[in-house]
Amino acid sequence: MIERIEHQSTKILATVGPASSSYETLLELVKAGVDVFRLNFSHGTHQDHEEVMNRITYINEKYNLHIGILADLQGPKLRVGEIENNGIELKKGQTIKFTNELCVGTKEKVYMSYKKFASDVKVGEKVLIDDGKLMLEVLETNKKDLVKLKVLFGGILSSRKGVNLPNTKISLPSLTEKDEKDLEYILTQPSVNWIALSFVRSAKDMKDLAKRVKAKNHPAKLMAKIEKPEAIEKLDKIIKASNAIMVARGDLGIEVPIEKLPLLQKMIIKKCIQRARPVVVATHMLDSMITAPIPTRAEITDVANAVLDGADAVMLSGETSVGQHPVKVVEAMNNIIEEAEKEYVLFPRPTPSKKSRTFLSDAVCFNAAKVAEDIKAKAIMGMTSSGYTAFKVSSYRPKCKIYIFSDQDSMLATLNLVWGVQGFYYDKFTTTDETIDDVTSILVQNEHLKTGDIIVNTGSMPLNKRHRTNMLKVSVVE
Ligand code: PEP
Repeated sequence: MIERIEHQSTKILATVGPASSSYETLLELVKAGVDVFRLNFSHGTHQDHEEVMNRITYINEKYNLHIGILADLQGPKLRVGEIENNGIELKKGQTIKFTNELCVGTKEKVYMSYKKFASDVKVGEKVLIDDGKLMLEVLETNKKDLVKLKVLFGGILSSRKGVNLPNTKISLPSLTEKDEKDLEYILTQPSVNWIALSFVRSAKDMKDLAKRVKAKNHPAKLMAKIEKPEAIEKLDKIIKASNAIMVARGDLGIEVPIEKLPLLQKMIIKKCIQRARPVVVATHMLDSMITAPIPTRAEITDVANAVLDGADAVMLSGETSVGQHPVKVVEAMNNIIEEAEKEYVLFPRPTPSKKSRTFLSDAVCFNAAKVAEDIKAKAIMGMTSSGYTAFKVSSYRPKCKIYIFSDQDSMLATLNLVWGVQGFYYDKFTTTDETIDDVTSILVQNEHLKTGDIIVNTGSMPLNKRHRTNMLKVSVVE
């Protein structure tokens, strides 16, 4: 057994990096409350990631846990090349050229990794560098390989800094050559539960990724990172084509006016809950803790607001990957979640759509949440192989625990990202009555339930037909 903090409904997703990749730190992070680890394929080698995955798998096996793993593909991230002396100063008003010809960058000319930059940009469009710290404007383009720009906001430009083009329709494929190689590798790793795609621009990006994952018969579910204005325009279709969504506030805050972030976050979360898609709020949540041992008031309020907005998970990036206090950060996040959840006020519960092809089962899950609230049930329990019951019941945000049973460990780790869901292994195939008795005694043995607790069971009858959830049963633990 492991001494792990009490489960909150809102989950914690933590990025692994040099500050957290050792076995000891990963275990400490799990104890402090991490539910899913994120491996950022923008950094590190496959070998580095594999070692981390092996450690997480070992922790899961040793302590009988279902900590999930999310592999995050870099996507078409644009970058400048090497810069002389690793830094040049760009002054407001000066001009500079961006070229596709490999060179060491100087004050006159800088290499740009994006081959179609000159043909895709238009005069007057903005070019943001280093998280928007530098801003340039396109003056001329030869439409082939050279673009002349004027510096609007200057500063130091150092090697390999990221470039954002908020006004430009980028013609790069959603999976770059690097992503193709990373994906090929990821699909050889059975412990990966989620694959996130960066800079998603359309539902097609997600459908293409889904085809590749399906072709390899890999069980991973897919997360779209919303960080482009095009993704906001096509949000409904992207949500429909994805299994989960990340509000990737880092790049989104560069690509759209930054003051729009709070309302975009609320809008995206609401839409995701309506469609039963888990939604993650990411970036700068406890950023000051990269160096400081305590968070700022504003950061605490930001995490609490994400919880109150209804996010399934809150994410840590630099705080746990390169920060000085990875364990303290997770403890702080967990404490904030615990406080915020004491006053859980959610906007009206979404109602099942009559147009949905799963309407009947949706109605059963919806009523499980409603009945549980009316009768003050301790928990809703369900079985799943596809994950449907867990995603659905969670989306109705019941005011009780959600205990989900599955005969697939990888599904249980996948569901560890989902609001309120706690997964348990169960692989017997017997009658509904016996299954309910069995899973209830597992929960009693693990001290999640006790005699006298009211519970709501969802299930599928007859069992051998393997239908979606079609049954609700209310009982009292004996
Ligand atoms: C983000 O931009 O907020 C984000 C999570 O993406 P990444 O960390 O991959 O840049």
